[in-house]
Amino acid sequence: MTKKHRNFINGEWVEPATGEYFENRNPADHSEVIGLWPRCGPEDVERAVQAARRGFERWRKVPAPGRGDVIRRTGELLLARKEEIARAMTREMGKVLDETRGDVQEGIDTAFYAASEGRRLFGHTVPSELPSKWAMSYRRPIGVAGLITPFNFPLAIPTWKMFPALVCGNAVILKPAEEVPHSAALLVEALLEAGLPPDVIQLLHGPGERVGAAMVEHPDIPVISFTGSTSVGARLGEVCGRRHKRLSLEMGGKNAQIVMPDAELDLALDAVLRGAFGTTGQRCTATSRLLLQESIHDRFLERLVERVRKLRLGSGLEKETDVGPLINQQALDKVASYVDVAKAEGDEILTGGRRATGGALDKGFFFEPTILRGVRPGSRLACEEVFGPVLSVLRFSDLDEAIRINNEVAYGLSSSIYTRDVRAAFRAMTELDTGITYINAPTIGAEAHLPFGGVKQTGNGHREGGWEVFEFYSETKTLYVDYSGRLQRAQIDTYDAAPY
Ligand code: NAD
Repeated sequence: MTKKHRNFINGEWVEPATGEYFENRNPADHSEVIGLWPRCGPEDVERAVQAARRGFERWRKVPAPGRGDVIRRTGELLLARKEEIARAMTREMGKVLDETRGDVQEGIDTAFYAASEGRRLFGHTVPSELPSKWAMSYRRPIGVAGLITPFNFPLAIPTWKMFPALVCGNAVILKPAEEVPHSAALLVEALLEAGLPPDVIQLLHGPGERVGAAMVEHPDIPVISFTGSTSVGARLGEVCGRRHKRLSLEMGGKNAQIVMPDAELDLALDAVLRGAFGTTGQRCTATSRLLLQESIHDRFLERLVERVRKLRLGSGLEKETDVGPLINQQALDKVASYVDVAKAEGDEILTGGRRATGGALDKGFFFEPTILRGVRPGSRLACEEVFGPVLSVLRFSDLDEAIRINNEVAYGLSSSIYTRDVRAAFRAMTELDTGITYINAPTIGAEAHLPFGGVKQTGNGHREGGWEVFEFYSETKTLYVDYSGRLQRAQIDTYDAAPY
């Protein structure tokens, strides 16, 4: 019989109040059921919130370095279990083992960085304008943070949110994407084993429209952090605005790699292969546009097509696989529909363009790595996020035009330029409208200790990773200490009747 898994609520692994479950299947072989997972409802959300509120009251009193120690131990456990977790992740999410190992490593790096932040969480001490008075700020926790995460980085993204939130002293409720419940459960197990007080973390499974939406509406969850599609993020923004909640949104992208005529073309070629087809194109930072300067356009494309045709599709658990499956049937249909749009818009399919079939591929959601040539700026394939192994190629004449094309989409997560010209590199660094720009590196490859996030419709101004995320999960409190022994009036006594 298929194993029924549980939520983690109020310090226990429990069945859902709804009594309902959903199947989690392997996207490389959808006849394989990995397990049954709870389909929670509002009652489960309510129980989780009440438990988390109790957890918060306890956890906020633990000194931040002690909170950091728990996260450091979690990192050590993830390190010891890296292979086991990576395999479980590939089985439920599909990407190749090298990438799921990288996903776990990102969680480990995030743990060690966040743990060290427990010994900083800097405030400021600044001079007061009045004598015998000190002025300071420090950071305090907020409450219960609701974390809603996507399927494509099943471990790394929950850790980006959870570890800083916990180090700052908040309690957390995690609602992972329906496609990757197992990875989330393994993460929660590690946290509990590392000594996190059980009511500080709650894990709820189930559909976003039901569980995620109930969390976002709940008055006792003052902080929401969401990574996912721009359409869902926009809806969350409305609710959080109405309910006066702090909200961090990390959403879609339409990232471009620009190749200048002076670039090292071999390097640029390796980069686009990895950026466009790694994780089957299902990365928020995936290269989904390739901007080629006209003098190298044909030659570069010829070599790229040759390399792309050699990519091997298959189960991510097999060593020789380069590209795994898409996450589910819906994703497959969406990617196929974009190829239809491309045809209708007159783009030329240089390779791919179809569902990949034959042998074991028939059992999974595989799509051929696809290159579209002649995509025009402003067309749908130039502007919309496909989230699959589809690369739109655009031609430009000079850097001004490349920058203009890069910037004319609604998204702004990542960008890349290959060039040996320092002037072009610095113009790209300053003029490309994205939250991240890589010089001579692919559009992917963020490191855990730097801010991560995008501009325009990719985000709402917050960043994950690095030092900035700790500001999102904490509240600044300003302190004035007057030891003058008299009433001192700021702005009044200071200049008009200066006592010095
Ligand atoms: P999605 O928006 O479908 O789902 C994300 C999460 O939101 C899931 O947990 C889902 O259950 C939940 N959800 C769905 N509807 C909801 C609702 N009405 N209320 C509350 N929660 C709801 O995204 P996905 O398909 O899992 O992930 C792919 C998307 O995520 C892509 O657009 C990708 O670009 C984006 N993404 C962005 C980043 C980034 O950092 N910018 C990183 C990874 C993925």
